[in-house]
Amino acid sequence: MFNNLSDRITASLKGLRGHGRLSEADVDKTIREIRRALLDADVAVPVVRDFTGRVRERALGEEVSKALNPAQQVVKIVHDELVDVLGGATGELAWAKNPPTVIMLAGLQGAGKTTLAGKLARWMKSEGHTPMLVAADLQRPNAVNQLQIVGERAGVPVFAPEPGNGVGDPVLVAMNGVSTARFQQHDIVIVDTAGRLGIDEEMMQQARDIRDAVHPDDTLFVVDAMIGQDAARVAEAFRDGVGFTGVVLSKLDGDARGGAALSITGVTQRPILFASTGEQLGDFERFHPDRMAGRILDMGDVMSLIEQAERSFDQAEAEKMAGKLAKGEDFTLEDFLGQMQQLKKMGNLKKMLGMLPNMGQFREQLENFDEKDIGRVEAIIQSMTPAERNDSKLLNGSRRARIARGSGTSVSEVNALLERFKQAQQMMRTMGGGMAGGGMPGAPG
Ligand code: GDP
Repeated sequence: MFNNLSDRITASLKGLRGHGRLSEADVDKTIREIRRALLDADVAVPVVRDFTGRVRERALGEEVSKALNPAQQVVKIVHDELVDVLGGATGELAWAKNPPTVIMLAGLQGAGKTTLAGKLARWMKSEGHTPMLVAADLQRPNAVNQLQIVGERAGVPVFAPEPGNGVGDPVLVAMNGVSTARFQQHDIVIVDTAGRLGIDEEMMQQARDIRDAVHPDDTLFVVDAMIGQDAARVAEAFRDGVGFTGVVLSKLDGDARGGAALSITGVTQRPILFASTGEQLGDFERFHPDRMAGRILDMGDVMSLIEQAERSFDQAEAEKMAGKLAKGEDFTLEDFLGQMQQLKKMGNLKKMLGMLPNMGQFREQLENFDEKDIGRVEAIIQSMTPAERNDSKLLNGSRRARIARGSGTSVSEVNALLERFKQAQQMMRTMGGGMAGGGMPGAPG
């Protein structure tokens, strides 16, 4: 996400380090570099102008001249201003006083609305809500069917027009969908609407008609982040044509340069509420401006990392491990495998590793990181006998050769794994009971 922008801004800020006092020339050089990086990332020109203007003013002001570490203070200013450009505080949905909360999705065709409907429903369900989806996109031939598929994957009911019942009237479908949701006591109803390939008056009119029929509490404008600052233009058209309360950026996993994210709030004055980061239903996050700024400045996003880990972390397993180590039992290859498998369960490792601070310098390794590594580790450990897994000292040369054959790997891979295991075991011994299970000493790479 925003790799190039992130690399360039962090590089220009690093250039300030080591200067005791910052001269106006130092500051201006950095600001110029940041301006160029933002423009290349396709951030809207007025947003860039405001941003760099504010950073410059503050960087030349008292807070920096009086700071013990001026360079660090400038980093803080850039961070603050990035948070501001990204919307400031984390935005919230406007929940209805009397359920159901009606959420309408709007945006161009292909923006990712239908996919988002499924992601949003799945997320809300995991938060204890009972959402229902309504298929009011009758424009795209396959849209209703696609929504039914994502609904099924998310485990959420879908209200759809009867098949074979002519083209149908999307406004009527939306109204019936919302009243059905109310009748069936769903607390949230998400209405998917039709988009067009470009901004189009008929599409806007239909969206307005649906809006006026269902009175949404939230209208979410879904936009493909890959279209860069064009996103801001499309957003303005939707703001004026339909109106919306919040933005969802989709396809942030692609080579989005950052332009959409950094331009849209400044241009529309509406918060970005969610981000879509892939084709799977789980590739979805709430959008936190402060965390996103942290990612751009390569400070990492440890909060999101922890949340994601917690969601998939097996507490019982961790407690078992802690208890075991507290009793002085040794950490075995079996435990090592268990930790690996937990790590794998957490989902997209590459994405998660990218949330750690200072990962920019390891970008290449990250890109080359192969999740199959874990598969090889599994294969190696599974080729061992239970006795071997419990006591790695049994693993002499001939046993290692057998394991390599059995797992389709090489003896040197087996050796490397055992070396890593030994380090993890050592670490577990030193840690004793305290943190056991929480750390992931087996992390590959
Ligand atoms: P709609 O026309 O607005 O309903 O858009 P769709 O939900 O059908 O999405 C259009 C295409 O983009 C589909 O192929 C989706 O799989 C894909 N897509 C949607 N969201 C994302 C995302 O966050 N990342 C990626 N890589 N693809 C996405």
